[in-house]
Amino acid sequence: QEKDYQMMLRTRNPGGFVPPELYLTLDKLADEYGNHTIRATTRQGFQLHGILKKNLKPSIAAIVQSMGSTLGACGDVNRNVMAPPAPFKNRRDYQYAWEYAENIAQLLTPQTGAYYEIWLDGEKAISAEENPEVVAARQKNGTGTIVHDNPEPIYGTHYMPRKFKVSVTVPGDNSIDLYSQDLTLVVITNKKGELKGFNVFAGGGLGRTHNKEETFARTADPIGYVQKEDVYDLVKAIVATQRDYGDRTDRRHARLKYLIHDWGVDKFRTKVEEYFGKPVEPFKKLIKFRYHDFLGWHEQGDGKLFLGVSIDNGRVKDEGDFKLKTALREIVEKYNLPIHLTPHQNALLCNIAPEHKEEIEAILNRNGVVTDLEKIDSLERFSMACPALPTCGLAVTESERAIPSFLQRIRALLDKVGLPNEHFVTRMTGCPNGCARPYMAELGFVGSAPLSYQVWLGGCPNQTRLAQPYTEKMHVDDLETFLEPIFVLFKKSRKKKESFGDFCARVGFDAIRSFSENYQPG
Ligand code: SF4
Repeated sequence: QEKDYQMMLRTRNPGGFVPPELYLTLDKLADEYGNHTIRATTRQGFQLHGILKKNLKPSIAAIVQSMGSTLGACGDVNRNVMAPPAPFKNRRDYQYAWEYAENIAQLLTPQTGAYYEIWLDGEKAISAEENPEVVAARQKNGTGTIVHDNPEPIYGTHYMPRKFKVSVTVPGDNSIDLYSQDLTLVVITNKKGELKGFNVFAGGGLGRTHNKEETFARTADPIGYVQKEDVYDLVKAIVATQRDYGDRTDRRHARLKYLIHDWGVDKFRTKVEEYFGKPVEPFKKLIKFRYHDFLGWHEQGDGKLFLGVSIDNGRVKDEGDFKLKTALREIVEKYNLPIHLTPHQNALLCNIAPEHKEEIEAILNRNGVVTDLEKIDSLERFSMACPALPTCGLAVTESERAIPSFLQRIRALLDKVGLPNEHFVTRMTGCPNGCARPYMAELGFVGSAPLSYQVWLGGCPNQTRLAQPYTEKMHVDDLETFLEPIFVLFKKSRKKKESFGDFCARVGFDAIRSFSENYQPG
């Protein structure tokens, strides 16, 4: 008898858009075939865990029929394209970001028929992949649909050397962690709000391996500016450069970031220009990026509202009196609302009529879900953890299950040293692959051995600067003794309103180490 392998299934939702039909299907599949939970990922998709191999086929078929896709959510191709999740209907720059996220996802989708033949008995359901809001926007803006003229025109016969991660955003909005992506487009409009083109960043990537210095986390570089008419050609030129020159002999050295690191930005740009057929224009000046989590109630700009609901580590579940899964199902079913997943694993319930605001809040509260932002600990609000044990085969230690107690202990320690309302970005992963982007955090824990973590310090609140490894191994039991002197020094020497990460980056690790070594607990 065939072994019952357990599988993970991940959906692909450009910009985190999950139509109500798809959400309700996932909710049902999680109960029928999964582990009764749905997990929002750090790339704005959903994952179902614990699916037996024999149940994969009906699960994928149900997802595609309800307007979702799993194609390209894993593997050495373009992954889920990210975009800011907030559904601002009166902001044309946001509309352009979603539209181009969807178009680029489509541009870089593998054209293989094998997917449908294997999972859907050859029945194609391509139209089910389209986000109806984007189709309408495309028609309105006349940007058209991308048509491929031959099989696998971009990937060729060998796909990519490694996975490829793309995001599209607007000036000032770094909700998508743009510096961690292989390729990011930033919408540039004129004074009237009309789309002119895109600033292009490339070469970010966070995955690394412990004790292998040739692997490292890297932030993306500005590459230049491209007119909107040429954007797909430039994206294809960048993908083709990585396809043809990315390292295919060593998977650890295969991401685009290593090619750009080895060549330097100028050589990379010159090679891209050869494929592109013309020079890339100079980068346009941008305003400062900020991080937004969009939690709580907001106006959409079209008379409707959206509500950002915090999901601890992205896990939608029912447990005791906490029934987030039940609440979301009831709300989505009753009001037919789409969900926009955020890159911080939270859910925005969109298109809410103002007269339903109180009822929706009552459903959530009745099921133990906190909607009052004052009641969510700010450390928790800005934290993120990957699933790690028991579902991820690469995990060397706990992450999702460990972070709640870490945050409670950090909160108690901050209270003890006299920093009661302090908060910063804390991220944790169970291995150096870095799925929850710990290398961009102000305080990052990266599993390095059972019950031990490498600790990274010095990222910033808006995730525009890479943190640095401060120590290779901190045992779980040593959390307080390790952090106490650092927090005491932070309290003593910070500048007015300086964040924890900015402080660590400014004073430097030598000063922190020397203070810690001579520290006598009070
Ligand atoms: Fe990703 Fe590693 Fe966490 Fe697994 S343990 S989810 S590979 S970071």
